[in-house]
Amino acid sequence: MKSPFTFSFVHSFFWGTIFCSALEAVEVKNLPVNLSVPGGVAVIQIEPIGERANYNGKKVMLVNYRESQFAVIGIPLDTVPGIKNLQVEYSSGSSSNHDFTVKEKKYQEQRLTISNNRQVNPNENDMQRINRESLEMRAAFANWTEELTPNFKMQAPVDGIQSSSFGLRRFFNDQPRAPHSGMDIAAPEGAPITAPADGIILSTGNYFFNGNTIILDHGFGLISLYCHMNTIDVENGQIVKTGDQIGRVGKTGRVTGPHLHWSINLNGSRVDPALFLN
Ligand SMILES: [Zn+2]
Repeated sequence: MKSPFTFSFVHSFFWGTIFCSALEAVEVKNLPVNLSVPGGVAVIQIEPIGERANYNGKKVMLVNYRESQFAVIGIPLDTVPGIKNLQVEYSSGSSSNHDFTVKEKKYQEQRLTISNNRQVNPNENDMQRINRESLEMRAAFANWTEELTPNFKMQAPVDGIQSSSFGLRRFFNDQPRAPHSGMDIAAPEGAPITAPADGIILSTGNYFFNGNTIILDHGFGLISLYCHMNTIDVENGQIVKTGDQIGRVGKTGRVTGPHLHWSINLNGSRVDPALFLN
């Protein structure tokens, strides 16, 4: 038999967790808004307490909150509404299925005009770069670290007008493209961008569509993304606290004007950042 107490003790010792009854659950101070729709977050109480959880073949975050255990599941935007299945594994080696329902949500259309046609119809070299970058980003979003305690009540990363643009079905120059996977916040070029919650800088770079980009890890599969920045003011591996400046608003990559594109990932799915704002 495994000894959960030894692990819990070590875990508590290093990360200051007070209550740790499950092996891989982390004690959190809050939960995100439960909105079980495509692009939303399902928050499900798990009883008896599980050791691991998976949805769609991906590891899902388990948290302890007020002496109960919850699974916090990111639901991909392309999910077909209906009854879904979370697999929970227990320390005994057994497992069970927890059903939850994903309801329908209709997202509006958005039509944008981009003057640089290459950003709508990239050439062959561009496509090679785009494919490489999308692999890099997918790998970053699959990162899983247990050295951080996720915080679901985030501070807006920039002062500005928060659009409800998450999930919009997009057309660039009348051509259908992937739905909008984040929140756009309009702010003047150079406006400071700050960390909305504690984390570690997972990667930084310049990307074809996203321009100057930062990926910030908050732990247990909760990862945020910042795009189109003018400057990047942090380095890979840097630890940041809520409110620390990480960069400045810009208009790099595919944009129609200066703004911050902010995305939140949970278990590799982009979910609506509005669900995490205080
Ligand atoms: Zn955007």
